[in-house]
Amino acid sequence: LKLDQYDRHKLTFGPSPLEKLDRLSAHLGGDVELWAKREDCNSGLAFGGNKLRKLEYLIPEAIKQNCDTLVTIGGVQSNHTRQVAATAAKLGMKCRLVQESWVNWNDAVYDRVGNILMSRILGAHVELVDEGFGIEFKQSWENALEDVKAKGGKPYAIPAGASDHQYGGLGFVGFAEEVRAQEAELGFAFDYIIVCSVTGSTQAGMVVGFAADGRADRVIGIDASATPKETRAQIKRIAERTADLVGLGRAITDADIVLNEDYAYPEYGLASPETVEAIRLSARTEGMLTDPVYEGKSMQGMIDLVKKGFFPKGSKVLYAHLGGVPAINGYSYLFRNG
Ligand code: PLP
Repeated sequence: LKLDQYDRHKLTFGPSPLEKLDRLSAHLGGDVELWAKREDCNSGLAFGGNKLRKLEYLIPEAIKQNCDTLVTIGGVQSNHTRQVAATAAKLGMKCRLVQESWVNWNDAVYDRVGNILMSRILGAHVELVDEGFGIEFKQSWENALEDVKAKGGKPYAIPAGASDHQYGGLGFVGFAEEVRAQEAELGFAFDYIIVCSVTGSTQAGMVVGFAADGRADRVIGIDASATPKETRAQIKRIAERTADLVGLGRAITDADIVLNEDYAYPEYGLASPETVEAIRLSARTEGMLTDPVYEGKSMQGMIDLVKKGFFPKGSKVLYAHLGGVPAINGYSYLFRNG
């Protein structure tokens, strides 16, 4: 794939580590070999995460256009806005964050700890807006862009999750290339890749990247948006755009986009008892933390699919850990008894 023709501004340490999950695999019966790719440890920028890999392909444009302020949007405990705030600090840019009320959760310190706490320390201008969840372009974000301009600044517009942007899918094409190189060293290839999806460009990039070796439909998206119709459509749209950019050489089809809708309940940002159980299990078997909004749900999905026999015996399954753990500080009530 022609990824090298696009500028990349390094924000991550380099290839993220692969880790074998022996104790979790054994706990689930040992028929399936589980591994994790640790995007949650991919950078020194404010605890890292999947957005940094995407931003590496957006930032060159922000620099080329002489922008002085990164403007983006997310929920109150958005991991994305925290990673944009850290990126702005590292680049010496300003940062304007719109944080909407995407989640119906009222832990007493929800809007003061975890991601939003870090964004404030990183020097971002944080604006709380009382609007509900949605992955589409929001008026509040357009307003923030206008406000930066009105005050004489030069904004660079980053949509929610750095997803619905011309270059939003490139980072995770790079993820697939990186996995292929790691597989060559290990001497085997993964049969399935598990990924949590909400704004869609993580899975979209992977679909394009793994389509290059016939594995697009081995990328199993686990929806955490609870609005899967919108998420699926956005994954497809971004995958189509990204496939053109990197010269995949074939059209993206509906069959390429596998999005499991079974684990997003009760709604975006709220964990079911089964999600909480999955968070405990991966923590207690592997010392690997996940959060109630995103990776807890994809962990729950992977565990349940192993238990149901979805993966044939002997399969090697790669769990993409995309980050998100800082948000657990806003969910202390869920774990008050351990
Ligand atoms: N996991 C974490 C920790 C996230 O912050 C996000 C962001 O939305 C996702 C998964 C989902 O990724 P995407 O929005 O690219 O679908």
